[in-house]
Amino acid sequence: MQSLYRIAVLAGDGIGPEVTAEAVKVLKAIEEIVGPSFRFQSGLIGGCALDQTASPLPAETISICGNSHAVLLGAVGGPQWDSKRPELRPEQGLLQLRQRLGLYVNLRPVRVIDSLAGISALKADRVRGTDLVIVRELMGGIYFGNPRGIFAKDGERMGVNTEIYREHEVERVAHRAFQLARLRRRKVTSVDKANVLESSRLWREVVTRIGRSYPDVELRHLYVDNCAMQLIDKPTSFDVVLTNNMFGDILSDEAAMLTGSIGLLPSASLGEHSALYEPIHGSAPDIAGRNRANPIASMASAALMLRYSLRMETAAAAIEAAIERVLKRGVRTAELPGKKRPTTTTRMGDLIAEVTQKILKSAHSRRR
Ligand code: NAD
Repeated sequence: MQSLYRIAVLAGDGIGPEVTAEAVKVLKAIEEIVGPSFRFQSGLIGGCALDQTASPLPAETISICGNSHAVLLGAVGGPQWDSKRPELRPEQGLLQLRQRLGLYVNLRPVRVIDSLAGISALKADRVRGTDLVIVRELMGGIYFGNPRGIFAKDGERMGVNTEIYREHEVERVAHRAFQLARLRRRKVTSVDKANVLESSRLWREVVTRIGRSYPDVELRHLYVDNCAMQLIDKPTSFDVVLTNNMFGDILSDEAAMLTGSIGLLPSASLGEHSALYEPIHGSAPDIAGRNRANPIASMASAALMLRYSLRMETAAAAIEAAIERVLKRGVRTAELPGKKRPTTTTRMGDLIAEVTQKILKSAHSRRR
């Protein structure tokens, strides 16, 4: 472990600053108990960056991120910027940052917390025990392929997008999925549409080849339509789900709903040299500035940062255990059903930070 880590903090818009402050709070709590030192440097992104600099991703922010060990992001966007030209929308800041940092894989862990199984849209018995990670390819596929556009042909307009995957793009994300599976239950489900799409046939071929280098990891292939069904029918049967950019976008939102609240789920976007951690939710303008947002997704994103970028597994696990303990006590933010007097963003953050410290202190004293 190094003695100092530089963390870029891009709080963004809406509830972004509120939930990110709680993630920073828990990191400071960890710093007090086990070190190392965290140096937080704030940068602008999204709508607030547009207002102050006329760019959704100012050069200074890129430089702060480039000089950091990891980036912690809140959320971007809001109705006040919705009428802007597409290239001047807050979301462009995030898309550009992912490209600039070469973040080609997105990890979205979906774990149903036992004490919250009852709030899932599915029956508690079906979702209890769900613990999976979607590994989504983030820089290729139909979102970026050319040709793209709306063209006129034979007297009418046609919309065109192109799904392209080069072998190396599939290889690198597949390696990440198999490596991750080795740290978990050693099962990879690769999801494609190889019965219809050539890009998927190549995807399946490459994943199968890469899988041979990981003989200890079980690999199965599912068509995306079947996977969408299985996620609802047998969510506990999944461990690591590897898929392309578009299928990953859709399946990860579907899987998120298994947990019952968007305010609980973190994500990590990783490249060779950079990593960005953010909650999966947006800027929630409807509750911004009211100390009502659930900070758990942001705090859990900080845990992923500790795990994947800073190799601080004990501290990462302590945050995750603290989240579970606080929820088990019945503490709830307003969007979680079942409480007449819900707690605030800051109070939830305080409690999780306190319990994280307690867990780390007792682990520390046991080791002595
Ligand atoms: P949203 O995720 O912001 O909100 C959807 C619903 O979930 C809202 O009712 C909101 O109150 C609730 N919610 C979200 N996060 C919550 C939390 N932590 N605690 C409690 N409740 C929470 O999605 P939206 O309303 O479609 O989008 C709002 C803005 O966010 C838009 O401008 C959109 O473009 C942007 N957005 C940004 C990102 C990002 O920054 N990565 C992702 C999605 C949407």
